[in-house]
Amino acid sequence: MNYLVIYYNDDQLICGTSKSAVEDCYGIVKGSQSMASSKTFILFLKILLIVNFIISVSYSIAADPLEPYLSKTTYSGETSVLSSGCSYVDSNVTGLAEALSIDFRLDNGMLEIDSFELKDRRPLVGCNDVLEISLNAEGALTSALFSTSALTISGGDSTTYNLSAGFSELRKPMAETGKYLFDAIDYSVATTKACTDISKNASLVSPQTYFYEVRAMFEKAQNDSITQYIDNPSDDPTKKTKYGPVAHWFSEAALEYAGTAYLQQFDGVEIVADYETVSWAEYQKYFNALCNVYLEQDAKSALIIEAEVFLGKTGWSGHASKWRQFEYIDTGRKVIESPSPAGLEYYTKYTTGAGIIIVAGAKVDDDALLAARDAFIYMTSARPEMRGILRRSHARVSLFTENASELPEYGADMEGEIGGFAQGTSDANMTANATWLCYPGNWDVGGNPAIHELGHVINHLIFEETNETYWYDRITPLAYAARENGTYPADAPLGEYWAQAVEGYIMNKGTDFKEIFPTRAYIAANHPGLYQLLTRYLPTDEWDYCPGIDENR
Ligand SMILES: [Zn+2]
Repeated sequence: MNYLVIYYNDDQLICGTSKSAVEDCYGIVKGSQSMASSKTFILFLKILLIVNFIISVSYSIAADPLEPYLSKTTYSGETSVLSSGCSYVDSNVTGLAEALSIDFRLDNGMLEIDSFELKDRRPLVGCNDVLEISLNAEGALTSALFSTSALTISGGDSTTYNLSAGFSELRKPMAETGKYLFDAIDYSVATTKACTDISKNASLVSPQTYFYEVRAMFEKAQNDSITQYIDNPSDDPTKKTKYGPVAHWFSEAALEYAGTAYLQQFDGVEIVADYETVSWAEYQKYFNALCNVYLEQDAKSALIIEAEVFLGKTGWSGHASKWRQFEYIDTGRKVIESPSPAGLEYYTKYTTGAGIIIVAGAKVDDDALLAARDAFIYMTSARPEMRGILRRSHARVSLFTENASELPEYGADMEGEIGGFAQGTSDANMTANATWLCYPGNWDVGGNPAIHELGHVINHLIFEETNETYWYDRITPLAYAARENGTYPADAPLGEYWAQAVEGYIMNKGTDFKEIFPTRAYIAANHPGLYQLLTRYLPTDEWDYCPGIDENR
């Protein structure tokens, strides 16, 4: 068992993580502080012992694929250093770094900035500590507030603390070294979230009422993603481009509603209007998925899948609820015999990379799977946290040789799908034509559907998950402006602007490969806003697309 560490009132004491150290600390407090603060400390210590007791009743949960990408915030009693792996910067001035890692050293009850490292970008996940900074007109620091709700003690148990510490020019504490001191330290044990929090103040409603409300929220989230822009005037001039973090919006609304309403167990199915039914089992699965989102233990796409089951919206043969998930095995750069689940035995070839499962039937060359893998690893290399999100969201690509109707998930109505298509939030997989990929023995000059479809999937499975408003606010206006100024074809759908550009940007091989977005230099010169967006999320270092193609084409 481990013990408490930080005590603060007017001054601050740091005690160790062993039982005796806590007793020492307790002794110091008793001897030197006022009665009131000693009582506060004793109470805090008691809370901690209870928390420790609960935690020591150990349980294990499956490893979360996001875990390696989540920054940690720790305090070490040995070094007196509080280390935040990632704090995002919230400032009154623009142009500062988006995020930084920062170490504070505790000295005389104050936190002194020990070192920091700026980050170009705030990672898409796991950067939740905050450093609020205010500068005056001369650029001098007037105040700063560091806060975290994820502090753990290194070498300690998993108790999590909230902590904030501030610097203010009014108090102006400066170390002898001239460094700013954060003297206003406040902390508490962070409350542990539980599923029961969600509906603790909710009222019992009928299954019909719940169904209608979920359906209304679902439709509202979909409708809110409809932009003002006509997607393709030469196709259907009434159809507007849809772009928005629908999975995020729905999750927020669903949590809010579950805070007001719940269902009591019922037998069989309840008939709701429009010949729809709901069952208790469907509601439970929906609520579990909602809870996993609340606890940040699963993807929002998993909630969308269960919401669609609850609402009876699973007509599509490729709906994720109809197919068992593949196990994710780290294969390295190797194709192995597919560990296909029941119903998907068609797939005999399997590899993984960048959090994505790549499968194919016997007719597909091993090198096609590896070429897709190489591309996915490169595409996610600037934002490796994308890999954790993709894996958690069960991203999978199925390769085919003629059209998507070859694949077990789809029937004859997909015969027209000869290139491939993306994986939406509730789909089992994305698809791509293996013979259109470029690899040794298949020196294909032209577009690459695996790269293209991952471009779409970055929207559906990553940006919808992370509520990437930066991207959503920009992508459609940029596409529209490009069509208006003639740099994007008049008959090209706005919804394809990003994925087409991703394809050209990643290959970077000229007009024979991608006519409308041939090279990075071309994109930078003709689509500067789009280029800025591409380089925000995708790697900027050189990549040798399809090594050997220039000699063999
Ligand atoms: Zn597309």
